[in-house]
Amino acid sequence: MKKLIFTLMVALFMTACSTSQKEQNENFSYTVDAFADMQILRYRVPQVEALSVRQKELLYYLTEAALNGRDILYDQNGKYNLLVRRTLEAVYTNYDGDKNTADFCAFETYLKRVWVSNGIHHHYGNDKFVPEFSQAFFENEVNKLPVSSIEKIGVSRSEILATLIPVIFDPEVAARRLVQDSGVDLIQASACNYYEGVSQTEAEEFYNAMKSPADETPISYGLNSKLVKQDGVLVEKTYKIGGLYSAAIEKIVYWLEKAQSVAENEQQQFVISKLIEYYRTGDLKTFDDYSIAWVNDTASHIDFVNGFIETYGDPLGMKASWESLVNFKNTEATKRTEIISSNAQWFEDHSPVAKEFKKEQVKGVSAKVITAAILAGDCYPTTPIGINLPNANWIRAAHGSKSVTIENITSAYDMAAHGNGFAEEFAWSQAEIDLMNNYGFVTDNLHTDLHECLGHGSGKLLPGVDPDALKAYGSTIEEARADLFGLYFMADPMMIKLGLLPDKDAYKAEYYKYFMNGLLTQQVRIELGKNVEESHMRNRQLIARWVYEKAKDDHSVELRERNGKTFVVINDYEKIQQHLGELLAEIQRIKSTGDYQAAHDIVENYAVKLDPALHKQILNRYAGLNIAPYKGFVNPVYTPIYDKNGIFVDLKIDYTENYVEQHLRYSADYSSLPTFNK
Ligand code: ZN
Repeated sequence: MKKLIFTLMVALFMTACSTSQKEQNENFSYTVDAFADMQILRYRVPQVEALSVRQKELLYYLTEAALNGRDILYDQNGKYNLLVRRTLEAVYTNYDGDKNTADFCAFETYLKRVWVSNGIHHHYGNDKFVPEFSQAFFENEVNKLPVSSIEKIGVSRSEILATLIPVIFDPEVAARRLVQDSGVDLIQASACNYYEGVSQTEAEEFYNAMKSPADETPISYGLNSKLVKQDGVLVEKTYKIGGLYSAAIEKIVYWLEKAQSVAENEQQQFVISKLIEYYRTGDLKTFDDYSIAWVNDTASHIDFVNGFIETYGDPLGMKASWESLVNFKNTEATKRTEIISSNAQWFEDHSPVAKEFKKEQVKGVSAKVITAAILAGDCYPTTPIGINLPNANWIRAAHGSKSVTIENITSAYDMAAHGNGFAEEFAWSQAEIDLMNNYGFVTDNLHTDLHECLGHGSGKLLPGVDPDALKAYGSTIEEARADLFGLYFMADPMMIKLGLLPDKDAYKAEYYKYFMNGLLTQQVRIELGKNVEESHMRNRQLIARWVYEKAKDDHSVELRERNGKTFVVINDYEKIQQHLGELLAEIQRIKSTGDYQAAHDIVENYAVKLDPALHKQILNRYAGLNIAPYKGFVNPVYTPIYDKNGIFVDLKIDYTENYVEQHLRYSADYSSLPTFNK
């Protein structure tokens, strides 16, 4: 599970064409590019120079293993995405006309957005991008492409045009990547590429038939495959060497084998060997073995995620998108999470949930603060700020989980956010602005730590409850559970006692920001007339709305008008903590008992709908600030240095590559899959 950033605080000035601009901080420029609703940032990798030569070598091989999976996600997100990307890049690099025309500017923006989303649908909202360049421009440019470019794409010119004109220009075709509305066939309605020719009912029956309630260690059914109907029969096409996405997986395995040879210790070597075995066989039992070995590797300084991990992109929440994150431990900041982890049992015992839903023994909640070295797949270019894995419930219960906060990423967000006018526009008074300025960075990081280290790992399912019982509402409920656990305890005096917060006012910064975001400002990410779709956003609105409704009697939190603008006013922070505790108890009950109806009701009642008048007001106020609602990143460039005998001696890191250069390089160097994958 991953935690996404929810502060929206970076200023930029949007123009019709995209702009590159510099924002200097200690000679490090955080802002790389800006277009549409995006701002692209750089992140630093502090202390990478301090790694040993062997660690640098390991790090380098893992980053190569990460970058080689890029095409997989494009294809998972939609079956035309690789064709779209390759065609657009060919047009872009061959273009020799006037680069200031409206068509070219709009075309460039569209391509940059495709890179952001690893496909043609918005990475967060899931809607297909509306091209603002003309179909005539596109046809003309494709017709001008040299034969060598067409051959590289591997699809004839006429087929490219016949396929892509509706895919890009017809709003009805592949309109949404992921649909989670109740009452429709979610698979038929979603354009993601995890199923083909299969109805939702067929897919559910197919996997239900595999599950046995008596199985206490179930594999993650369907996690690493596409489900297709062939001659009337349902077949899983497994992602593995010799199966679907073989060419990319072979490259990943090639670099993993090199990594294995310079692993830091035997346990890590074993972890990598299990991952390789899994990529060779596609066996989900082996994936579980790998996950357990990975959880048990807490000694290594360098660590990584590489595989089919998160299921947010599948409307049924079973099939995982490919991602990779390579990182190493931030030793200093990790002291903070070690304090949290070593007190995990205290938090579990003191949580406000009913006793029967608590873990008697919280096992191995290992937590650390890490420095990201490379982001890839579903972690790139938009990235989580915290991760807690593995996702399998029984492994978490029996072996614990690893939880990380990615502090060089949160720090990049924070550095890029100063002085953009956001807090001044949306906070009720200077008192709240001061709170957030004084404590915001500390409390944000702490909330992420609590969410990941304790929240996801807390509580238990009652025996026999199907972990997928909440279906499409499962992710929202799970994220709400983790957020609530963190929010509830942030106000506990234990935080000060443990030295995690400086004083009794600090948590108020997080509460104010959370309610301001959940009730008001996160709506800037949604187009007028649309519902809240993404599960982290749903979770935040659920929590904020539920408490707000609950507070109608005691006025602990209210919405107030001033000069036609709506603000969050918090009158009683302690009372809010109490309400958060009540909601946590209910959300944990829903999760523990698999109460689908209650999950449906609470999500549909609080988390999905927006008040159109308020939404419009927020959008207008936000538009006046010229802030991009979404952030993405470029990775640093790593260059290995070898001596004259071919021995690895050093790793050079460079931060100067821009957004366009990076994507074109990745497409040239790390693109092994065919344009269509079957
Ligand atoms: Zn989470």
